[in-house]
Amino acid sequence: MTAASPTPPRAPSGRQHAPVADAPSGRQHPPLAGAPSREVDTIVVGAGIAGIAAAARLRRSGVTDVLVVERADDVGGTWRDNVYPGVACDIPAHLYSYSFRPNPGWSRRFAPGAEIQEYLRSVVRDEGLTPQLLLGTDVTDMAWDDDAERWRLSTSRGGLVCRVLILAAGRLSEPVIPQLPGRESFVGPVMHSSAWMPGSDFAGARVGVVGTGASAVQVVPRLAEQGARVTVFQRSAPWVVPRADAPIPSSARAAFASDPAAMQAHRESLFREFEAGHAARVADGPERESLRQLALSHLAAQVSDEALRARLTPDYEIGCKRVLLSDDWYPAIASGAVALEPSAIVALDGGHAVAASGARHEVDAVVFATGFAATRPPFADRVRGRGGRLLADHWAEGMTAYASILMAGFPNLMVLDGPNAALGHNSAFPMIEAQAELAATLVTRMRAEGADVIEASPLVEQTWTAELDAASRGTVWLSGCRSWYVDDRSNRLTLLWPGTATAFRAALGAVAERPLPLPSPVPAPALQS
Ligand code: NAP
Repeated sequence: MTAASPTPPRAPSGRQHAPVADAPSGRQHPPLAGAPSREVDTIVVGAGIAGIAAAARLRRSGVTDVLVVERADDVGGTWRDNVYPGVACDIPAHLYSYSFRPNPGWSRRFAPGAEIQEYLRSVVRDEGLTPQLLLGTDVTDMAWDDDAERWRLSTSRGGLVCRVLILAAGRLSEPVIPQLPGRESFVGPVMHSSAWMPGSDFAGARVGVVGTGASAVQVVPRLAEQGARVTVFQRSAPWVVPRADAPIPSSARAAFASDPAAMQAHRESLFREFEAGHAARVADGPERESLRQLALSHLAAQVSDEALRARLTPDYEIGCKRVLLSDDWYPAIASGAVALEPSAIVALDGGHAVAASGARHEVDAVVFATGFAATRPPFADRVRGRGGRLLADHWAEGMTAYASILMAGFPNLMVLDGPNAALGHNSAFPMIEAQAELAATLVTRMRAEGADVIEASPLVEQTWTAELDAASRGTVWLSGCRSWYVDDRSNRLTLLWPGTATAFRAALGAVAERPLPLPSPVPAPALQS
């Protein structure tokens, strides 16, 4: 190793931006004014994409007695935290943005991470949310007080009380790092992809990258380009299709700025294009076959060595895990700058990373692109509903909810990006907006209709869950691969909504119109639009 001497690891709070203008900084972390009993109507926990959407929707509905509590010193969530080389979105930027805050200025079809982060910060400013932010405030406990019909929050800066609690803590916020024997014997830098050490210079260094998911396929080509000698530990080969990224010419940007209707039409056409990808996930018909052929021809066009191609060919159904978009993953692997270890990392031993195959690779640094605790969100251990019941216990067999956001026994609690709220084929933004819209509608209706408490009954939650379980059967996501879409305790599809984004919006829209407090029977969610 020559130049790899990164600065010491730090917590994954990410990029060191100046705080959002006029925000209560949080950097000094003084005790909260009015704690321990400062009360507001609604608290949103988390200032990532979902938390910002919820706060903006509430504000646009006239609900301003809202605090957005965020443990880091900046907004942005995953786009604040993920600063590894090559970080970018694999959904076109005009679709990977809020419908209510279109951005004509995207520089590329697939925006780089830093540009998305700046966009999110600008939305917070432009939506007037800055005064509602409590940054640098870690929520350590959330408990429902049955007598007062309020949520009581303990935070690193004191206590807070609210009527409605919206949990938007993110599904990609808690990194998972395999517990490897011999970890203590390895003295080089070790980092998770979402906790990149700024200033890391791996030129000339031998770097082990663990994983072959969306993060790994972005970081590996950049590390190779920077002169690192990379060994990739591939437990499963990913399905990869062409990315076809390109700058958006200034003339197109100017046209979007002057013609919002054209920009909206572009967004709609992208949305429809991605929605069409749902068909390949639900049945093994011509759509899936054409996706499979697209990926296989991409591999054949980019990797001429037959043996290497065999190692890079997935052994599970396309779409079972996220289909990755990359034009430089295969060329990096085929270039000789990257060695492919076709098995998991199982141990560290001094300066070696040991693979399940028995191979020992000399490495100076290890990057874990090993994903996140998505099916078992750690916040569930901090939420106590009626009778002190932990949300983690409610979810002991996997996450469930009514309308993705409401849980029986947890009054006035709404979880965003929780059960069955993600997609494998389209942008996260329409899904998040549908949840934020439902949450804001319920809050405003509670006020207007004088409903102090709303809560899903066990029956409505079970009915909804049974419908989704039935709809999930036979889809590609349950075809046998290991993915973070599926909870390994119950083998249920708990992360993904098994239908289209359009159907999700319609299903949640129907719930928004139900009489409060959300009685049974529930209309079954229609999964195709
Ligand atoms: P991920 O998709 O969960 O991938 C984790 C990878 O680590 C998998 O390849 C997994 O192998 C591997 N792994 C875990 N333990 C291992 C071990 N001991 N040895 C070898 N490999 C091991 O995580 P991610 O890549 O960070 O992506 C997570 C999600 O973040 C994505 O699905 C996406 O939603 C989001 N993301 C999006 C973008 C974007 O462009 N929009 C970019 C990055 C991330 P197996 O496959 O065998 O389990």
